[in-house]
Amino acid sequence: MPWYMEKNMEKIIKPRGTMDVMAPDVFAWNYIEKKVRDVADRFGFTEIKVPTFEEIGLFRRGVGETTDVVQKEMYTFTDKEGTVYALRPEGTASVARAIIENGKATDTLPLKYYYVINCFRYEKPEAGRSREFVQFGTEMFGAPSAGADFTIISLGDTVIRELGITGIKLHINSIGCPNCRPAYRAALKDYLKSHSDELCDTCLDRIETNPLRALDCKNDSCKKVAENAPRTIDHLCPECRAHMDELEGYLKACGIDYVVDPHIVRGLDYYTRTVFEFIAEGIGSQSTVCGGGRYDGLMEELGGPKMAGIGFGMGITRIILAMKQCGIEVPRLAVPKLYIASMGANASAKAMEIVSELRNAGIGADCDIMGRSLKAQMKYADKIAAEYVLMLGDSEIEAGTATIKEMATSEQTTLKLDEIIDFIKGK
Ligand code: ATP
Ligand code: MG
Repeated sequence: MPWYMEKNMEKIIKPRGTMDVMAPDVFAWNYIEKKVRDVADRFGFTEIKVPTFEEIGLFRRGVGETTDVVQKEMYTFTDKEGTVYALRPEGTASVARAIIENGKATDTLPLKYYYVINCFRYEKPEAGRSREFVQFGTEMFGAPSAGADFTIISLGDTVIRELGITGIKLHINSIGCPNCRPAYRAALKDYLKSHSDELCDTCLDRIETNPLRALDCKNDSCKKVAENAPRTIDHLCPECRAHMDELEGYLKACGIDYVVDPHIVRGLDYYTRTVFEFIAEGIGSQSTVCGGGRYDGLMEELGGPKMAGIGFGMGITRIILAMKQCGIEVPRLAVPKLYIASMGANASAKAMEIVSELRNAGIGADCDIMGRSLKAQMKYADKIAAEYVLMLGDSEIEAGTATIKEMATSEQTTLKLDEIIDFIKGK
């Protein structure tokens, strides 16, 4: 009988839409996290850690009142002092706030930050969509050039490429700027009004407040209306057109394959000009593994200086799904170099001593602490994928020598007990 029933406790299960991650899946998580940190470092980004919860107003202003995230998906709570907080649904608003609050806006530009954070959204859970998920995010502030857009896109592309994922396509679009948007908005409003009987209630409201959001609605009928809607890309001012052309030039020159996709608009309010998504074929409906874009209005919106910004968010679970789809095997990051199988108290004590010394020298090592039979210990060594196995019994202790076996080759070497540590260190 499980312990919780013995104690007459109710069975407690994890909240809907959350995950327990353990071996072997956790190897993939750690492998991906290591890769994204490595690539971000190479691009000159430094890590930023921000709070898990923020005042709700930050997301209202920074993400936008008319977005699905703010209107439907935030986890909010009131603390004992009566302040209303939200578990962060994304990272960008917090990074911008942190830059303003810590006086970083006057540092040498551009500011380049990355993070690996858990985010929370009240959504309908399905494959690749959960209520708590982990996002690798990048943010670059203070660089309005198309070269900055290229750098961010290239960072995402490098991660995907170096993880070995194939079948992911970069989709880019431009949604214009405050100069070209009014004319576009007017055209879009007229179009949406003429299709008002096909729109959901939220989008009907959005016609007046933020018509662009209607193009990002998940409702099937709204999606159909969006398909033939006027396109931002056809309404760009000369500056926005030139910015897009320059970005396309960099992508071509550096061999990053892309398509211009007028339907990419992104769900967040503060985007301007470039928006992009990396979309995987064949991982189901949640196929956007990475989404991002430019948000030149955000910093000011949050009370900071006027400062350009661009970044992306990459969902780690969706990356894992794409890796599985490609049949990519993830290596276990650290396997023990040595496992010592021992029989008898003296041998066991010696095993502890050797293992301890190796661990102190930074080498992974393990030995029996379960009192298992020799056969069971060998099976265990196999399970933990130890590279070498050493057998220690009373006779080995007496003789002062023991045999070490390299598991991959079955090659055996007999060594003096005091040579073992140097032998393993040399491997
Ligand atoms: P979607 O259209 O799939 O809802 P989104 O536009 O809401 O995505 P963003 O806010 O741009 O997504 O987040 C960036 C990335 O974070 C997404 O491309 C995706 O990989 C990941 N992501 C977003 N929401 C979730 C979720 N609920 N569960 C898992 N991953 C998510
Ligand atoms: Mg979403």
